[in-house]
Amino acid sequence: MNTGGSKVKVWVRIRPSSNFARDAIELQNDSKTINIHHKRPDKKCVVNNQKLDWSFQLDGVMHDISQEEVHNRIAADIAHSALNGYNGTLMCYGQTGAGKTYTMTGATENYKDRGIIPRAITQLFREIDEMLGNVVSVRISYLEIYNETMFDLLSTLPESMAVMDQVTPLTVHEDPEYGVYVKGLSCHLAQNEEEALNLLFEGETNRAIAAHTLNKMSSRSHCIFTVYMETHSRLQSNAKYLLSKLNFVDLAGSERLKKTNSAGKTLTEAMYINKSLSFLEQTVIALADRHRDHVPFRHSKLTHCLKNSIGGNSNTLLIANVRAEMQHMEETVSTLRFATRMMCV
Ligand code: ADP
Ligand code: MG
Repeated sequence: MNTGGSKVKVWVRIRPSSNFARDAIELQNDSKTINIHHKRPDKKCVVNNQKLDWSFQLDGVMHDISQEEVHNRIAADIAHSALNGYNGTLMCYGQTGAGKTYTMTGATENYKDRGIIPRAITQLFREIDEMLGNVVSVRISYLEIYNETMFDLLSTLPESMAVMDQVTPLTVHEDPEYGVYVKGLSCHLAQNEEEALNLLFEGETNRAIAAHTLNKMSSRSHCIFTVYMETHSRLQSNAKYLLSKLNFVDLAGSERLKKTNSAGKTLTEAMYINKSLSFLEQTVIALADRHRDHVPFRHSKLTHCLKNSIGGNSNTLLIANVRAEMQHMEETVSTLRFATRMMCV
């Protein structure tokens, strides 16, 4: 049942560029509005290139902003609320190369380039240390969804075995008490910041290895890093404990394929990505509509996994990652159109 009316917050992050298309992109001083004046090269209409003017209003636009500032502005509150029992989901959307992984994970070897996930981990363990009355246990899972098949990025089994059907495939289940969970997905206890960060690095490594051995580009899959928090009161041993989840979602590249070079495997991947991103949009729109009873969570693995963590009492945030170079303007417009549709206004 849709309790209704819940909205996604949408922020834009522009990847820095020495080729910033100043003629095409205009950022307004309110830090919420982007205007784009873009001449779309239209093959059918060679003589009269159509000038398109767009104005996009978001919850915020980030340009020339450090990783630390990104975390402070958009992620810190959601992570804090998760410790108080509110599920949260942060997602990065955009074309390949626009900065989704940089925003979510960042450059792990360089401290100041760390993305939202490692910063949220640091923040969570710091806040847990400061919670005197409670004991919090933290668990972590890392899931990859590729062509509607789920892979465990923290499994001890090699991924290729899962592919060869030697192990039971991961499936989404719903439990009356625990809500939605992925059956078979390994969930790892992290007792401190360092253990949690190690799990993130291990998952990142497995993601890269799997991309190589299975010849699938990591930009073609959705990855969900989930932190599960279980809070018990130190004072009342029989008090009900609090369970919450925080999801960090690095979505598959949203770029549309040129018809000429799409065939076979590439086409299949594109089809799965288009479908799941469009179900994500439909789910968010249905959640925002109080009068809609049916929310199509089950139509894709991505939305099904996120069922208890988007909408309702959850905090949901989408970061639209865009590029500022002229040659990417069409994708940038397309990403911003998706982003504003997700705001449901
Ligand atoms: P995506 O995950 O969307 O495909 P990446 O996060 O891999 O894109 O970014 C592509 C490249 O651009 C990477 O080399 C990354 O380090 C760099 N990059 C992206 N965003 C930024 C940023 N805000 N500041 C500096 N470098 C960035
Ligand atoms: Mg990426």
